[in-house]
Amino acid sequence: MQVKRVVLNSRPGNNGVPVPANFRLQDTTLAPDLKDGEVLVRTLCLSVDPYMRCRMNEDTGVDYVTPWQLSECVDGGGVGVVESSRCSACSEGDVVTSFNWPWQTKAVMKGSALQTVDPQVVDGHLSYFLGAVGITGLTALLGMREKGHVIKGANQTMVVSGAAGACGSVAGQIGRLDGCVRVVGICGSEDKCRALVDDLGFSAAINYRQEDVPAKLRELCPDGIDVYFDNVGGGISDTVIAQMNNNSHVILCGQISQYNKDVPYPPPLSEEIQETLQRKNITRERFTVLNYMNKADAALFELSQLVKSGQINVLETVVNGIENMGDAFCSMMKGGNIGKQIIKISE
Ligand code: NDP
Repeated sequence: MQVKRVVLNSRPGNNGVPVPANFRLQDTTLAPDLKDGEVLVRTLCLSVDPYMRCRMNEDTGVDYVTPWQLSECVDGGGVGVVESSRCSACSEGDVVTSFNWPWQTKAVMKGSALQTVDPQVVDGHLSYFLGAVGITGLTALLGMREKGHVIKGANQTMVVSGAAGACGSVAGQIGRLDGCVRVVGICGSEDKCRALVDDLGFSAAINYRQEDVPAKLRELCPDGIDVYFDNVGGGISDTVIAQMNNNSHVILCGQISQYNKDVPYPPPLSEEIQETLQRKNITRERFTVLNYMNKADAALFELSQLVKSGQINVLETVVNGIENMGDAFCSMMKGGNIGKQIIKISE
């Protein structure tokens, strides 16, 4: 059977900006017969995520993901449907997901590497399994609960950077639901600012590309900042931290502004910011969602209920076609997405 797949064509270099030409579309042939334990899946949707940037390097610099190899099929989060199965855990028609789904229109995978999911959990929006009711939703919910220290009635102000992205858009809504009286998002366009306030119930939003972030933060957070969900790092985070209150909390979720640079993760802070953290007793602990997977089932159930009941709104940017994987990844890394970036591969 002929299928299409995406392989890594070249590496951008540890200090380079990824470009679509780093990926290459190929035709490939699947073996006609399944072996014991294998399933044939048709890919429905694929995810592109910031952590993939380090997989484009020869060494990812972290121990929980491996580099993609040149000329080999790229992989990441995916959802698909089982077309035939020689695995007792999966049957034809099952909807399945994996964190290591090949960027391929159809694939033969080990049934044991797949997780069967119930489409009713997401009211049929299967791409939500890659976003709000998947890993980015989990990151937002568990990041807030594990590191945010939000207390109902405590009059807390929360700031989210990367606020209009997959994690940020959910994190801000969790902050509001959990009791922050003010949730301010920082993001990179007017459309994103509008979506945060009009569609997601943020109190206010700042366009960091056009506005004076320190001045806007002072205006929008007159009581200082108690909780900071940090997706971006760099200068934006330095500015936020400078306005944080004593005994406040940074959720160190990600540092995307530094991902195209050859720096360790998390990137080192300036002495001034370190001094601020210490003087104000601000916690800033690294958060990695993979360390909390024992809490995933309960958290995913909660997320699905919040989405179904409309307490959390889900934003997505969807492009069609496996030939657009590289474009979609590079676009997401530059802010082309509002909400979760999804690539629809088949109906
Ligand atoms: P997003 O959907 O937020 O997409 C990335 C966004 O980052 C872009 O849309 C862009 O939005 C923003 N961005 C890109 N470059 C910059 C920059 N230089 N300065 C400021 N913003 C920038 O991705 P995710 O929600 O999937 O991921 C968000 C963060 O969460 C990432 O740092 C990621 O690594 C991290 N993460 C961490 C996990 C964990 O376990 N700790 C798990 C999953 C994700 P804009 O237009 O606003 O610039």
